[in-house]
Amino acid sequence: MQKKQVNVIWFRNDLRIDDNPALAEILKQDLPVIGMYCFEPRLYQNYFYGLKKTEAYRANFIIEAVEDLKNKLKSLNIGLKISQVSPDDALKQLSDEFEIKGLYFQKEWTSEEVDVEINIKDQIPNTKFESFYGQFLYHPDDVPYEDFNEIPKVFTNFRKKCQKQTEVRSPLEVPEPQSANNFIDLNTSLPTLTELGLEEFEKDSRSAFPFKGGETSGRERLDYYFWDSEKLKYYKKTRNGLLGTDYSSKFSPWLAHGCLSPRRIYAEVKKFEKQIKKNQDTYWLIFELIWRDYFKYVSLKHGNDIFKIGGILNKDYDWYRNKAAFKEWSEGRTKDDFVNANMIELKKTGFMSNRGRQNVASYWSKTLKQDWRIGAAYFEAMLIDYDVHSNWGNWMYNSGVGNDPRDRKFNTQLQADRYDSNGKYRRTWLHDSLF
Ligand SMILES: Cc1cc2nc3c(=O)[nH]c(=O)nc-3n(C[C@H](O)[C@H](O)[C@H](O)COP(=O)(O)OP(=O)(O)OC[C@H]3O[C@@H](n4cnc5c(N)ncnc54)[C@H](O)[C@@H]3O)c2cc1C
Repeated sequence: MQKKQVNVIWFRNDLRIDDNPALAEILKQDLPVIGMYCFEPRLYQNYFYGLKKTEAYRANFIIEAVEDLKNKLKSLNIGLKISQVSPDDALKQLSDEFEIKGLYFQKEWTSEEVDVEINIKDQIPNTKFESFYGQFLYHPDDVPYEDFNEIPKVFTNFRKKCQKQTEVRSPLEVPEPQSANNFIDLNTSLPTLTELGLEEFEKDSRSAFPFKGGETSGRERLDYYFWDSEKLKYYKKTRNGLLGTDYSSKFSPWLAHGCLSPRRIYAEVKKFEKQIKKNQDTYWLIFELIWRDYFKYVSLKHGNDIFKIGGILNKDYDWYRNKAAFKEWSEGRTKDDFVNANMIELKKTGFMSNRGRQNVASYWSKTLKQDWRIGAAYFEAMLIDYDVHSNWGNWMYNSGVGNDPRDRKFNTQLQADRYDSNGKYRRTWLHDSLF
């Protein structure tokens, strides 16, 4: 029997239907569309220093996000195949049933993601590949650099030039549904944490990130932070906070998994500036989104150097690899109570403020002089908002092997005095310990 011809959209870190270039494009074609998402086994296994790539907090967020995506796709008459094997195996299986004419997906460039694409090509050699950059604020075709080697070493130079010479493209609207006749019910279900080899957990009531995964909750958060509470008006003044849900936007987990598009956030900031208020605070959210872009361009320029011990500066420092030091740091049992409080927050919730991250990273790599990549790998396992470029880029920056022209070391006690002067943050996480 002849197989039914289809196009497949393979979702990766683009778990949304709004402003999704691959989705917009595939729905312009004439063939029925099937969606696919894989909980890739390699992402849930041990990989470096005995650490898993993904721990339960992020896995839980992804499960929620994929469930939301499945519902959203249904409203576009698209069925979602959810798989627990590698994408190449999943597509091979799908190709037993369907003739896959085209595969549409978000373009990635880090080596592991590229390897996955190569494996897929081997499995379905006759399929046409169409990939799109969907994760940027400034589209790579629009930035004022001929090639990525020209990306400056210093963020400010990048930001100023882009702000002067590059327009942020308007977000794409949610596309029209495909014909209901094209709906293919794939009848697949989501894995549990246990099935992914992870432990179930109760959410900690102190968490600064108590939210659910998915485009729906991401959009609700945006509406709350901008329109209902108008907290955006104070963003720059509060963003160094440590406690509670509202000191910063908390967009990062939704951005990291593509539940929110940076261009949509940008468009909403611009709308807010027109309708409510335009000030330093509203601008600063865009400023931070440019930082996010910058680390993506740094990894486009430097490739795998961002994972090497010398970083992109190829520095030859002496690093220790002390197991006891790692245990103390990761469990929040160092000599430093501010570092400890932050590390306990991360361990119990999968989230930590930007201020906290800078301090614990600097403490690990500059005070304790431990291999910075172990710290980065621990963050990779634990963070709900883990993003390869932001994580490894910020870790390099804070460890003296990246893009910080000043190569600063944080004085964690001074930082605690400044940002937690009444000790409330430390009391929240240290409870009845020595503090
Ligand atoms: C050592 C270290 C590791 C980090 N690892 C990650 C990571 O894996 N994933 C991640 O998304 N961010 C990472 N960050 C950046 C930053 O800490 C988080 O993006 C931020 O704390 C998330 O909270 P928010 O969404 O409320 O941020 P907001 O202050 O509300 O900022 C808005 C958005 O701007 C972007 N942003 C803000 N600060 C940075 C920054 N320094 N670098 C890049 N983008 C930024 C984020 O997308 C964020 O959601 C790391 C920072 C450090 C110092």
